[in-house]
Amino acid sequence: MDLGITGRLAIVCASSKGLGLGCAEELAANGVDLIMNARSADVLNASAERLRDTYGVKVRAIAADITTEEGRSAVLGAADKTIDILINNAGGPPPGDFRDWSRDDWIGALNANMLTPIELIKAVIDPMIDQKFGRIVNITSGSVKNPIPQLGMSNGARAGLTGFCAGIARQVAKHNVTINNLLPGQFNTDRISNLFQSRAEKEGRSVDEIRAAAEAANPCGRIGEINEFGQACAFLCSAHSGYVVGQNLLIDGGAFNSSH
Ligand code: NAP
Repeated sequence: MDLGITGRLAIVCASSKGLGLGCAEELAANGVDLIMNARSADVLNASAERLRDTYGVKVRAIAADITTEEGRSAVLGAADKTIDILINNAGGPPPGDFRDWSRDDWIGALNANMLTPIELIKAVIDPMIDQKFGRIVNITSGSVKNPIPQLGMSNGARAGLTGFCAGIARQVAKHNVTINNLLPGQFNTDRISNLFQSRAEKEGRSVDEIRAAAEAANPCGRIGEINEFGQACAFLCSAHSGYVVGQNLLIDGGAFNSSH
């Protein structure tokens, strides 16, 4: 299917690797020019170069912390025309016991996973409304539907973003501007490897054992791959998805068992 977005411009935050990279790659494969972002310039530049060479799209790489005002300004300032597509993403908060989290820890989580995407949405949405096309996708977490006890700061911050977007998605939909959320379950990224590693250490088991147990527990019998996450993202950014509004699409291999 032709997604109808060739020549569009997308900002993909936190996209040198992992789920953000999966989204950037599938947008590039559909002819979308990119502004990619991550903090470490070397990994980011290597990913940007690969996508540029593979898909022949324009790719600007902005090494910056997206959770800072300067970082957001640098990313937004790299656009030479209206931003058509915004993919919000950032690293997730650490796991732990809520008794150990200070107010500053909480503010860090809220800043990264709630306030940063809200600031970026605010910056891009009016020009999207004016041009009658805009696609915003927030990478959140399966924890929005199925909260994970040890990821309390993630549960809290992402619930805040989800609630906010549920409201504004309905206000802007008539302008062909959509806001939707993608909720990853377990995907093969560094983040999940680190979580498996810390669980292995805590439980005195091997990482392979922890991974095998996670795979066996999933109805698909495996962990997800970033390209399949990216393909769902590309559809939500397509010309054909204007009637998909304010949804929370769980991509978890069926791990969360719910009939609605
Ligand atoms: P990942 O593989 O560790 O990749 C994270 C990416 O974000 C990297 O490119 C990283 O590059 C960049 N990044 C992190 N913090 C940033 C910042 N402040 N500013 C700019 N770039 C930043 O992680 P992932 O697994 O793709 O996870 C992405 C998001 O999905 C996280 O919020 C995570 O909690 C959530 N999630 C993931 C899973 C999963 O199974 N993987 C499941 C549920 C939720 P630099 O480090 O160089 O900045």
